[in-house]
Amino acid sequence: MLKLTDVNKTYSDQHALKDINLTLTPNETTVIVGPSGSGKSTLLRTLNLLELPETGLYEIKHQQINFSQPINQDVRLWVRRQTGMVFQQPRMFDHLTVLGNLIEAPVQVRKIAVNTAKATATQLLADVGLAGTENRYPYELSGGQTQRVAIARALAMQPNYLLLDEPTSALDPELEAQILRLLKKIAKTQSLIIVTHNMDFAQQVAERIIFLEAGVIKFDGDPANFFAASTPRIAQFLNRFKI
Ligand code: ADP
Repeated sequence: MLKLTDVNKTYSDQHALKDINLTLTPNETTVIVGPSGSGKSTLLRTLNLLELPETGLYEIKHQQINFSQPINQDVRLWVRRQTGMVFQQPRMFDHLTVLGNLIEAPVQVRKIAVNTAKATATQLLADVGLAGTENRYPYELSGGQTQRVAIARALAMQPNYLLLDEPTSALDPELEAQILRLLKKIAKTQSLIIVTHNMDFAQQVAERIIFLEAGVIKFDGDPANFFAASTPRIAQFLNRFKI
């Protein structure tokens, strides 16, 4: 379980998250939506401690973090192991092969034996549709393949939650569809928290929708209610995506 209580984050004069209260259950696909600048990315990055709010509590796996107090490096690394992050434009280690990229953190951080890590990585590559790419270098991959390697790399750390920040926004529509299909498959076995602008995908994959506006959670619940445009504001937001 991930629980945020009364969380506030500001960037100079921007109040990006305002009194956020949220409990996320495992084995659920949560999709965070909202207008640009509403705080979606900040909320996701907070779950990974890539952003540190000024106030509020964060409970993760029975550990409690108080944002008003300093957070030591061990706690940050521990939280990042629970919550793997996939970025819009993932970065790879350019000097390592695909396999090297996949086993780096499991071997160095999780202390998994190299052969075990290699076997897991090979299986994960097959799962994301990239069997046989083990010995390629990152520069030999397309954008869609790089994103699939990034997803496999995050899964290789066996996170409790996989966080995805607009994972397809840098891809063309065909590659986007491939990644979205892959995420739908992964969602069957992995807790996902996804920020996306793709409402069709959100509707297909979400078991829970969080709608943020100006740093405030304006809807938190059943996707069917959300997509039935249960408030005038949600209707207005959804209308923006209609052609
Ligand atoms: P979203 O993901 O919904 O587009 P963000 O979480 O990126 O929203 O941003 C929320 C608000 O915080 C916006 O007003 C944005 O301009 C501001 N913001 C985000 N990151 C920074 C930053 N590093 N420095 C200053 N302002 C930021």
